[in-house]
Amino acid sequence: MARLIFLGPPGAGKGTQASGLAQTCGIPHISTGDILRAAVAQETELGLKARFYMDRGELVPDHLILDIVRDRLSSDDTQSGWILDGFPRNVSQADFLDQLLDDIDQACDHVVNLEVPDEVLIQRLLNRGMNRSDDNEDVIRNRLKVYRDQTEPLIDFYRDREKLVSVNGNQPIDAVSQQLVELVHQ
Ligand code: AMP
Repeated sequence: MARLIFLGPPGAGKGTQASGLAQTCGIPHISTGDILRAAVAQETELGLKARFYMDRGELVPDHLILDIVRDRLSSDDTQSGWILDGFPRNVSQADFLDQLLDDIDQACDHVVNLEVPDEVLIQRLLNRGMNRSDDNEDVIRNRLKVYRDQTEPLIDFYRDREKLVSVNGNQPIDAVSQQLVELVHQ
């Protein structure tokens, strides 16, 4: 059983690590970015609204995302654990999640903060740019700014709650994965 939140700037390897660890632990990987990209691809009402913000590197408004997370964490398959990747992204989402977990009688075990220097992040995101419409240089810079302004405050938020575990994300993928598996098995 593991319930983990993955924090960290865009390009830190959150998606790769969260999805690998979820598979290892046999629990769902819940990526709000993946959910939103699927909605955009399917041109659902959510997707049509979300795209405007995603293309600019801005956060999608909270009201579009909170019900999705509530539904997901209340489903049958998330009762034995989950990894949240890309949520929460600001303090109001973190407050919402605190309340939600309280309501459904769950608690998160750890918040993993993947640390990677800015130069490495930008290079990784530019390399990924061939595949994602929100990975061109202007949008990348805005996503990093949005991260600093809105998401980084969550590091202190979770440190104060004694949930924060910082992991060096500037290492080979397998070395990071190994540290994460050890964390879960502690
Ligand atoms: P990601 O794949 O997590 O980097 O997310 C890609 C984009 O989806 C972000 O730049 C945001 O526009 C949007 N997004 C993903 N998760 C959230 C969230 N929790 N709150 C608001 N917007 C989000």
